[in-house]
This record gives sequence, C-alpha cells and structure tokens, in this order.
Amino acid sequence: MQKGTISVQTENIFPIIKKFLYSDHEIFLRELVSNAVDATNKLEILAQRGEVTGEIGDTTIQVILEPEANRLIVRDRGIGMTEEEVLKYLNQIAFSSAAEFLEKYQDSAIIGHFGLGFYSAFMVADKVEVVTKSWKKGSKAVQWTCEGSPEFTIDTVKKADRGTDIILYINEENKNFLEKHRVEGLLEKYCKFLPVPIQFGTRTEYDTIGEGEEQKEEKREVPNIINDPRPIWKKTPTELKEEDYLKFYRDLYPMAPEPMFWIHLNIDYPFNLTGVLYFPKLGNAVEVSRNKIHLYCNQVFVTDDVRDIVPEWLLLLHGIIDSPDIPLNVSRSYLQSDGNVKKISEYIARKVADKLQELFKSDRPSFEQKWRDLGVFVKYGMISDEKFQEKAMNFSLVENTEGQFYLLEEYKEKIKANQTDKHQKVVCIYTQDAEGQNALIKSARNRGYDVLKLDTVLDNHWMQHLEYRSNLGLLFVRVDSETADKLVQKDEEKTSVLSEAEVETVKGVFEKVVAGNTAARVECQPMAPTDWPVSITKPEFLRRMKEMQSLQGMSLGDFPDSYNVVVNTNHPLVVQKMTKLEDAGAQSELARHLYELALLQQGMLRGEALTQFVEETLERL
Ligand code: ADP
Repeated sequence: MQKGTISVQTENIFPIIKKFLYSDHEIFLRELVSNAVDATNKLEILAQRGEVTGEIGDTTIQVILEPEANRLIVRDRGIGMTEEEVLKYLNQIAFSSAAEFLEKYQDSAIIGHFGLGFYSAFMVADKVEVVTKSWKKGSKAVQWTCEGSPEFTIDTVKKADRGTDIILYINEENKNFLEKHRVEGLLEKYCKFLPVPIQFGTRTEYDTIGEGEEQKEEKREVPNIINDPRPIWKKTPTELKEEDYLKFYRDLYPMAPEPMFWIHLNIDYPFNLTGVLYFPKLGNAVEVSRNKIHLYCNQVFVTDDVRDIVPEWLLLLHGIIDSPDIPLNVSRSYLQSDGNVKKISEYIARKVADKLQELFKSDRPSFEQKWRDLGVFVKYGMISDEKFQEKAMNFSLVENTEGQFYLLEEYKEKIKANQTDKHQKVVCIYTQDAEGQNALIKSARNRGYDVLKLDTVLDNHWMQHLEYRSNLGLLFVRVDSETADKLVQKDEEKTSVLSEAEVETVKGVFEKVVAGNTAARVECQPMAPTDWPVSITKPEFLRRMKEMQSLQGMSLGDFPDSYNVVVNTNHPLVVQKMTKLEDAGAQSELARHLYELALLQQGMLRGEALTQFVEETLERL
C-alpha cells in the first residue's frame, strides 16, 4: 500500500467543498454519473476504432444503494483507470480543477454549478473509495481511498470487471441520499436523458400467462432503467411522428394543456445546439407559463432557470435546449455578453419567426384561430426584439369586433380611406371591453369606422410600440376617447341647430347636474341628431398614463380620474325638449336622466347611484 498527500501547493479544499452550496449538494450524483457516462463513451469510441478487442459487454451504469453500510455506489463498465491514471487524473487534474473552481465560483451564482467534478463527492461523503480497472491489457485493479483530507492511500486489489466503482460513505448530515426515493428523484431530475442506460435497482413487471380459467399473472424482477438514452431532441424530425412530440411534452409537463405546435432545433455551426421548443396555449396566463425551458448540456440536465440565456419573451416557450456551447461555469451576469449565448438567442428567435410565418402561410384560418394564444407571445416578441418585429409584420394580426382578422398592413389599407386624420395618421379605433362599450362601438360603426378588439395584457405596450417604433403611421384611440364624430380628427365645420346663447344655457343646465363632481367636465358639441344625446369620453392620453402607472404598481392618486360629459346639442331631446321646458327643475331632471343613461352605457353608474336610478325609473313607469 502506498500513502501520499494529494497536493502540496493547494490549500486544503475539503472543508470548503463540504460547506459549498449546501442546497446544491445533490449535484454530486450528476457529476459522478456524468463521469461514468464519459468513461463509457470513451470505451465505445475505442471499440469502434478497434482498439478494444473482444466484446465490450453490457455497459449499463449502475447506481447502487447500501443503506446499512451507508454506501452509495456509482458503477460503470467504461475505460477504467490504471494506477498512474488514478494518480494523474484524480490526485492532480481533478483536484486542482476542483480547487480552481472553488476559488473562482464559491460566491457567485453560476449556472447549475457545473465543473466541481469528482470532488463534489466530498460534499456528502466523509470517505470515498475508487475501485477501478483499466481496459488496457494486463492492467491491475487499484483502490484509491480518501477520507476527506488531502491524504490518500492507493493499493492493488482484485476486481474482475473492467470499469470503475465510486463508493461513497455518506455522512450523517446527508443521510437523505441513502433513501431510495431521494436518489430516484435525483436520477429523474439530472440523468433522465443521459446517453448510456442507467440502472437503479429493479422493478417488478407482471406477465399474463395461460388462457381462460388457467390465466394467471406472473411477477418478474427486471432492471430498473431510469433514462431514455435517445430522447426526441437527439433524433431527426423525419424519425418522429406528431404523437412522439406530444408524448414527450406530456412527460415533461403532465399538468399542462396540449401545446399548439413546436420547433425542432438542430444546428452544428457556428455553435452546437439541439432541442425541441413548444408553443403552449398561453391565453392571458403569461406568468404561470414562464420558466419552463430546461437546459441540458450533452443530455445532462443543467437547470430550468434559463433567464440570461434565452431572451425574456422566449421564456414563454416550453421544452428543452441542449448545448455544450453555453458556458456553464461563469457567473450569470456574464452570460448575456457571451458571444455564443447571443447567437443562440438570435437563432431561436429566427426559428420561431420562421415557424410562425410558415404556419400563417400554410393555413391562415387555423393561425387566426390560434391568435388568442399566439398574440401575447408575438406581441411580446415584437416589443422586445427588433429583428423579430420586422418579421412579425408578416404574421401579426389584429381582430375587429366582428371577429375578422387582418395583418397590420391589410388593416391599414382597409380603414385608410375613412380613418385618416388631419395629420395623415391612420387612426385605429379599439376597445378593451367589447361588451361593456357596445353602445359606443355601435355609434362608431354607424359612422363607418371599424373597431378593433385589443384587450390582452400587452396590448397597451404593443400599440404604443407600433405608434413609435414602426413606420406604419398608425395612431390608436379607444372608442370612448372621443365622441364618435370626433374619433378621427378632421377639420369639419358642423352646423349647430341651437344658437350660441341656447348652447350656453344647455351647458349651464348640465353643469349644475354634475356640480360637486370634480371629475366630470361638460362639453357641448353639435353632432348628428342620431348620435347619443350624452356620451362620456376619457382622453386617450390620460387613460394610458394611468394604465401604465397601475401596471408598474404605482399609485393612481397622481392622475385624477377625469372624464368629459359630451352633450349633443343637435339631439332632438335637447333641441326640442330641453329648450322648450320652462321649468328649471324639469330641465335639470331631464339633463340628469340623460347623463345617467350615458354613465350606464359606460358601466360607470354603480352602487347607490345605480340603485337610485333604477328606483326613480320604476317610479316613472
Ligand atoms: P472532468 O470530468 O470534468 O474531467 P472530474 O474531476 O470529474 O473532471 O474527473 C477528472 C478525471 O478523472 C476525468 O477527466 C477522468 O479522466 C477521470 N475519471 C473520473 N471518473 C471516472 C470514471 N468513472 N471512469 C474513468 N475515469 C474517470
């Protein structure tokens, strides 16, 4: 037996490893199983090259629990190590790279904590034995033992099989890693798609044998293989059917509704990336759908927190990306400036745009049907990504209150003739509440205007974005921002039936009605006799400011809630009825009733005012 000290230059890293990232201790299993996979892959390469002679046999990796002995074993039948290799790889290379890793990354949040490697075993074990036998002819098996200090021993031992056993003596604080369920959970999390079969114990299978009366079930124990060595993202799309993608999705997100469609990513140059990304049914549930992309590195699970790797708006997608070209042992903040990460983001965004374009082209009706779910995503993308916005112009839709869909350019063409204002802006009139604003929508449509439904969480931002950041020359106004005749501002002289003095009198009557209400402002307009006698409007600008404020969680107190009470001085009830009434009381009662009807149409008559209104109306009947 030989004894030695692992390294004289480096400080004792074992206490640091033990303390390291307590909550992430579990990664030791990923690191050890990954090493076993590497060793197995190397053996297979040697075999392909004809360097290993004879059968390589079963190369299934085994994870074995021996709770009575406090042992957890990772066993592979890979290339193994000779004594020299153990001294070189474990004592020197692995040790100094672990030391370097710790020195650099102890305090920073690096992705998935990749790179601590073999020595991560000491996060959970007080003693580690490595029993290994190299594939090389005539090699003697050796056992390396280390008890959590830089001292180690190495000894020749007997071992029949080629390959390596890493034997961990799990310490008291980490006993949970001796529980079957815990280990199973970890294998499921980190190793589910590793490229070499991994066995964890056995499971029972039942066979039905015999027929009819004689039929019986027979139990049999079979190896419990925990992984799928060739997951769908490693296959080519031609090998796969729709059902394969859907099944994979269900396995990943058992609770989620079926995705709408997906893209299969596969690129070798200038970076290597494979994956499958799904478009979930979003609706308005933006928040719950986020952070569902899993990042893999050569089929090893890294993290499901891909912020900083994938741009914000793409975080709404679900699925898997697998790339060895994403730097994992750098701090998160560094990632965004990494060249590969940038290219990867661009690539994904481009693929997403291409897919949407293709779907739109190949089946527009079905694309329109999905727009409710797709819209949020596309709009988010347009706001955040210039290149995507450019492409999205070719598939980004608006829907009007009649349920018809238009591309932005198409819509502009449609409304241009009637809805261009005096500043040459094409005015899009929209509603966020088609039901609640029915009366106003009706007046606008009577005037020949079209009304859009823009009622999703992102629409405010999106409209603003289109106004400022696209060269469409569009302006958005809400259907209640002006009376129907003024929605699209044009210089028009309007004829007033009443004289100026009469208008002043009418205004006075209404002003008395709203007296005491600081939010209401009376305005008289000579509109068409067929327009509503009184309507409530809210300036578009103020309304947007308020909405922005509330979105940012700011107080609403800063902007008073104000609205205009627009009186149509050409309406018969005003021209013929109100001005003819002698009694001031009767005039004011009529005015109040018209005002309340307008409030009612806008859903603004509520609480006690509404009850009173109903009671008074009943009395009149
Ligand atoms: P890395 O895997 O990143 O190289 P590790 O510290 O995990 O770093 O391992 C260091 C080296 O030890 C490996 O590169 C490999 O040569 C050797 N090694 C570790 N585990 C095994 C194993 N199961 N079989 C053969 N060699 C191994």
